[in-house]
Amino acid sequence: MKSQAEKVLIIGSGIGGLSCAIILAKLGFDVTVLEKNHQPGGLIRSYTREGLECSVGIHYLGSLGQGQVLRKFFDYLGVTDDIPVSRMGENGVIDRYLFDAPETHPPSFDLPEGFDAYEENLIQAFPAEQACIKKIVTAIRKTSDQLHSLDLLYSTENDFALLDQSQPYGEILDNLGCSPGLRSVLAIPSSWIGVPLADCPAYYHNMALASYVSSSWRLQQSGTDMADVLVNRLQELGGKVITGAETDKILVSSRVAEGVQLKTGECLNGSLVIAAVHPQVVLQMLPDGAVKPSYRNRISKLKNTHSVFSVHARIDAEEHPEIPYNIFKIETNRHGDVPDLKYYQIRRSEKQDSSLLSILTSGQDETWAPWKKTRSGRRGNEYDDTKEKFAMELIGEAEELFGSFKDLKMLDAYTPLTIRDWVNSPDGSAYGVLRSSSQILATALLNRTPVKGLYLAGQNVMAPGVIGTIMGSFATVKFILGADEFRNKIRL
Ligand SMILES: Cc1cc2nc3c(=O)[nH]c(=O)nc-3n(C[C@H](O)[C@H](O)[C@H](O)COP(=O)(O)OP(=O)(O)OC[C@H]3O[C@@H](n4cnc5c(N)ncnc54)[C@H](O)[C@@H]3O)c2cc1C
Repeated sequence: MKSQAEKVLIIGSGIGGLSCAIILAKLGFDVTVLEKNHQPGGLIRSYTREGLECSVGIHYLGSLGQGQVLRKFFDYLGVTDDIPVSRMGENGVIDRYLFDAPETHPPSFDLPEGFDAYEENLIQAFPAEQACIKKIVTAIRKTSDQLHSLDLLYSTENDFALLDQSQPYGEILDNLGCSPGLRSVLAIPSSWIGVPLADCPAYYHNMALASYVSSSWRLQQSGTDMADVLVNRLQELGGKVITGAETDKILVSSRVAEGVQLKTGECLNGSLVIAAVHPQVVLQMLPDGAVKPSYRNRISKLKNTHSVFSVHARIDAEEHPEIPYNIFKIETNRHGDVPDLKYYQIRRSEKQDSSLLSILTSGQDETWAPWKKTRSGRRGNEYDDTKEKFAMELIGEAEELFGSFKDLKMLDAYTPLTIRDWVNSPDGSAYGVLRSSSQILATALLNRTPVKGLYLAGQNVMAPGVIGTIMGSFATVKFILGADEFRNKIRL
């Protein structure tokens, strides 16, 4: 049994750090979250430009329906009623995929809510592949059941249970003789977690897809509001969040964690330290000799997901009302792989006369290489000009789909360097550690470290996305409590 007053220090106040903190505070631990930024929330926090809330790490959420996985998590955390959401897909579309490869692909495909509707849409788009589609959807339904029943969390096998579903999804589709068109449609869910289809373990593909087909939701509040709800809930439970508190070192003596040292030099003690930040960032905080070279080597060699570039613009609300689904313009090749895509969202905003256009695409790291050694806000005019030029190109491309935007005003664009500096993610990686089949063993059990009392949490330990990240927090708590105590104390 853990002592009720055991002191826990959590590094990072993203959804990973905050959810872990709430779970432990509910269990009676004395929790303090340390955040380097002056505002909590990490990637889930939005930012304001000209009165409009621009989101970063939450465009939509999956599985908030009754009995579904995220609903169970939010209910346990005690935040469901304070995070208002609206259900997507009521007109039959959650996501619309647009293709421009008429020889191999249909012009568009709609991702609907529900597995029957999904199967029906696939068969309608690819009638010659009915048998293959049935097999594909059967496997997705199975993963969906595992996801919502939380089998993985309550099993005693940890994530090794996933090894039998670690075959690359692209390989499975090749074996099924799937057409390039069908392959591209199926490639999109793996892009949500930043893994190319050819190397995406079947389980992660199916989990990402199942989480949104089960039900999809948009926040009715801003990402900042959501971050504040989580912080308030933690405080209600007696936990603390200290902002402007950059952790510099994890204090370790004889391979046991004893606390942290902040950049200011201040030291804080805790018998448990949970780093809800990237594992490669954690390595830099550990003193020499704290972990064996083999661990250092494994973590430092982990490959990460790609970075992103995003634009937010204000457009006239009357001319461009909210579109109740997401739109993906998909670049594809003859084999059906998806080297890149553009994601579009048009939503009503805080101002009656304005809609918010958001565009997201891959980061184009080489474009920003000249400013790699600079910090946010101090990169100079040439960087701003380059950013604006790229943003305007993306807006121009969007106008080819939506028509000319009335009263458009670009509000902001962020680059991989912005993400890197905001949340300390290596090279601005959007979804953290690459959950690929090739590095499935190297990424297993990342929650634990060889240092006693030091655990990891956040999107890197299990899977990215709000669901994957919170699932990772529960998994970390399971390691801390032990599987039996976890099962007795945490009912989801
Ligand atoms: C552009 C984009 C769009 C996305 N869209 C969606 C979506 O629509 N739906 C969805 O479910 N998921 C989405 N995701 C994924 C989701 O946002 C992330 O998986 C999740 O927010 C990660 O949470 P985290 O707590 O692991 O990390 P982070 O949010 O990165 O939190 C880490 C925190 O640690 C802090 N920190 C770092 N170093 C230190 C230090 N030394 N000392 C103290 N604090 C430190 C950082 O400042 C940060 O606040 C998106 C991600 C991106 C990038």
